[in-house]
Amino acid sequence: MILVLQKEVTEEQKSHIRNVLRGEGYLIREMSDGGRLLIGAIGKPGHDLDFFERLPGVASVTPISTSFKLASREMHPKDTEVHVGDVVIGGERIVVIAGPCAVESREQALTIGREVRKYGAVLFRGGAFKPRTSPYAFQGLGEEGLKILAEVRDELGLGVVTEITSPAQADMMMKYVDVVQVGARNMQNFELLKCVGRMGKPVLLKRGLSATIEEWLMSAEYVLSEGNDHVVLCERGIRTFEPYTRNTLDLSAIPVIKNLTHLPVIIDPSHATGMREKVSPMARAAIAAGADGLMIEVHHDPDRALSDGPQSLYPKQFGQLMRNIYVIAPVVGKQVDFGYLDKAKAVKLMSAARGGGDRRAAFLGELGTFSHRACTQYFGSEVRAMPMSSFRQIFDAVKGGEVDFGVVPLENSLTGSIHENYDLLLEYDLRIIGEITLRIMHHLIARPGGKIETIKRVFSHPQVFEQCRQFLEQHQGWELVSAKDTATAVKRIKEGGLVSDAAIAGKQAATIHEMEVIQEGIETNPRNYTRFVVIATAELKNGPRRKSSLIYSTGNRPGALYETLKVFAERGINLVKLESRPIHGKPWEYIFYVDLEADIESPSYKTVLDELGKRTDYLRILGSY
Ligand code: PEP
Ligand code: MN
Repeated sequence: MILVLQKEVTEEQKSHIRNVLRGEGYLIREMSDGGRLLIGAIGKPGHDLDFFERLPGVASVTPISTSFKLASREMHPKDTEVHVGDVVIGGERIVVIAGPCAVESREQALTIGREVRKYGAVLFRGGAFKPRTSPYAFQGLGEEGLKILAEVRDELGLGVVTEITSPAQADMMMKYVDVVQVGARNMQNFELLKCVGRMGKPVLLKRGLSATIEEWLMSAEYVLSEGNDHVVLCERGIRTFEPYTRNTLDLSAIPVIKNLTHLPVIIDPSHATGMREKVSPMARAAIAAGADGLMIEVHHDPDRALSDGPQSLYPKQFGQLMRNIYVIAPVVGKQVDFGYLDKAKAVKLMSAARGGGDRRAAFLGELGTFSHRACTQYFGSEVRAMPMSSFRQIFDAVKGGEVDFGVVPLENSLTGSIHENYDLLLEYDLRIIGEITLRIMHHLIARPGGKIETIKRVFSHPQVFEQCRQFLEQHQGWELVSAKDTATAVKRIKEGGLVSDAAIAGKQAATIHEMEVIQEGIETNPRNYTRFVVIATAELKNGPRRKSSLIYSTGNRPGALYETLKVFAERGINLVKLESRPIHGKPWEYIFYVDLEADIESPSYKTVLDELGKRTDYLRILGSY
């Protein structure tokens, strides 16, 4: 059952409630939800719910309706995030685990590790104890394999995932690996589940070949009930009557799981399909369906792989898959971050150099705006997001060292460039160190229980009204009131307390202020994206450097711009953006902002910069990221 405590509950009342529950033999978990304290209590009820409801300080008591308790969403309304070093599974960034089915040699593991890391995997997989159908098939390298995995971690900085097949391996696993996998065949090996529960390390729990979702969650419950909350569920296909694929990937498990439990869920399309050419399509579908990550088998020489070669992707295919999910993820509100590990390392180094403490990133507006979301998706939870009231304030704060980073929007796919920020980039001597693109979805948000029929007044930013024009035209009677930003609009309706008020904003603003989305996706054009850049005084060490941004001006000569563009064309450098802005105080003279797909500061492009220098009056590199 879940006990919801009163807002004004005292410390004495709380400890009395805890004591009563413990005295009755309940296992208790405390959590807060929207400022209220909840106590989840699991055990055999000796009294009926009324007894607990009468305890001083308790507002209400509800039974948990499912057979799994600790794993249930009712018990823990917020998503669980499982941390593996710098990697967070279950957050807003997709986590891709990749590597061979089995560790075959040091050389093989390191070769594949280097490849998958290059293409964006953040954890490495490889079996050392292989549960094979035939006792005569390769059984894995055992401890030797675990040692190789530890070497991969040390050399490449990738956390390692491997399967445990017996409690007898626990000590070895503790020594060498970061995540222990419970394989499909062991999903109901209850002694093994209790053992990994006690180990306390993150657990990747695969769904059994013929297990229902409920049975799978009951297995997760075994791990959780040992006090280990770090459980990641992995759907890997179930056995059906269909022989064309090795198993049948149950993609509908993703939304079902998301509803039933707070635990993250990832998809293994390799074992689900058993065929190389089927892996990428299912992986793309999994991301679109809301999976928190993927586990993919990759091998550099699959024809000679000792196990599961036919379903292993070649490294290049894996790279292509990563590029595809990079595009898909923002559509469902997530990100694939190619700089994930390097960025985390660089932020840590920065912290150490500045004597510890939190790193801070400034963004425009209140918590819950799209700028705030850009900030949290770019940095994860490692950097503290700091609200600011103007773009100039962000630039000043970064320049003055008050914050380490700034996150500012540069362009929207429908409304075009945000010129103020282009001008500020020219004015301030700061570097662009990264970029992030968000899909901008607007929702109609009201107070809980609010209905579209009762709405009379709507708050939002004027540009948002513009982007939702078609929807608003269907509601001519509504009064539109402009707000500073979308999150402020949601705050207004919360504080105003009127059921006739609504706001238009992103989902995050509704969640933060505990308001309800009453109509989803009301923007006229669903292809609505905003690109943000991250600014700082200096570049991050070892950033990905796939792209560069430059500013330059040419004299007012015939063909002057053409001459500069020719330099890029001759070196085969892809230009992805060209924007011109008038130069203040010099009528009819322009400065150009250029984005290129190249690390323009690398030694191999020195001649390009030299050539460009000769053809421009002013040239500055804003950053390579
Ligand atoms: C594996 O991940 O290599 C594996 C054996 O998976 P499963 O348990 O899903 O068959
Ligand atoms: Mn395998």
